[in-house]
Amino acid sequence: VSRFEQVTMAPADPILGVSEAFKRDESEKKLNLGVGAYRTEDLQPMVLEVVKKAERKMLESGENKEYLPIEGLAAFNKATAELLLGADNAAIKENRVATIQGLSGTGSLRLGAAFIQRYFPGTTVYISNPTWGNHMNIFNDAGVPWKHYRYFDPKTVGLDFEGMMADIENAPDGSIMLLHGCAHNPTGVDPTPEQWEKIADLIEKKNHMAFFDVAYQGFASGSLDQDASSVRRFVERGMEVLVAQSYSKNLGLYAERIGAINAVVSSADAAARVRSQLKRIARPMYSNPPCHGARIVANVVGDAKMFDEWRAEMQEMAGRIKTVRQRLFDELSSKDKSGKDWSFVLKQIGMFSFTGLNKAQSDNMTNKWHIYMTKDGRISLAGLNLAKCEYLADAIIDSYY
Ligand code: PMP
Repeated sequence: VSRFEQVTMAPADPILGVSEAFKRDESEKKLNLGVGAYRTEDLQPMVLEVVKKAERKMLESGENKEYLPIEGLAAFNKATAELLLGADNAAIKENRVATIQGLSGTGSLRLGAAFIQRYFPGTTVYISNPTWGNHMNIFNDAGVPWKHYRYFDPKTVGLDFEGMMADIENAPDGSIMLLHGCAHNPTGVDPTPEQWEKIADLIEKKNHMAFFDVAYQGFASGSLDQDASSVRRFVERGMEVLVAQSYSKNLGLYAERIGAINAVVSSADAAARVRSQLKRIARPMYSNPPCHGARIVANVVGDAKMFDEWRAEMQEMAGRIKTVRQRLFDELSSKDKSGKDWSFVLKQIGMFSFTGLNKAQSDNMTNKWHIYMTKDGRISLAGLNLAKCEYLADAIIDSYY
């Protein structure tokens, strides 16, 4: 008998488990709209041309495989903070930004969570309801207490702004608010610029701190600057923030695990101390981060021509998603005779559509139609093409009614 007898079976991951089930399905009709990973119009994974170019350059220059420093590649850390805040941002010029390379968005959030656990013990992190499923796991595993704030109103299929503001107001002073920088996952519903201003006002008044999760910069609107405007608004007001970044989506570097945690603080001195402590958290967890993705980002951002090529490819990806979003809306509107308003599909931002399908309806999508999606009703439009929009609309309408 094994000494591991008491180890019970863990449940499948609600997102990555969907891909595992998809692989097992032998139907020709099958469609994977679970994981948020970009596919071409032929539904194939894609490596950006600019990434291949950077990799060729890296191979030719014959860089070695020595360890990076604990905080990661210096050229990457500089580039990533500048992409986030803008190169001429005062906080960067005043050395008030502590940036540590992390293991993509997830690993960077995890570093931030560990930092909160250590330096703000007992402070509750408020997370939108709903949110990306892994947020809860990350704070749970870091031993950080968390609660939900209201975010989504199923009736309007839009932002529950009043509920959100009330929950921020009623949280104890000095709480931490986890905010999606853009393209909220899973709802695709973002606050307007005016609403962001009010959120910032209230967070400042309550002496809360914002922790931004920026997983889709450039991917939501096609513009890196526009998608970072929420974060920049807080920083320009002189508010201290934590920001996790990911290059999984916008550079398609999913498997390279490249991202960063940034602490924008009020003095250079505080930034140096925070950086030193973030390094201290990283060292016993994984020692130092991988170099390949960091070099790709540093190369692309550091070369004006490649940077422009990246922006063009990003716009192309964002554009393809908008095209299938429109087609899906057209199909739903013309096929559904009930008079239901499907315009929320068009209003949602980013990679996903939050369909409003409940768990049983989502199960029908999978069991009857071989369409794989998360059970919260989210579908990844990045895994859809024009040819499959009609089939998807039939499946959604069948599952709804
Ligand atoms: N945050 C959000 C909101 C996300 O949607 C994702 C990716 N699904 C991540 C963080 C992190 O992804 P990664 O670890 O691949 O960067």
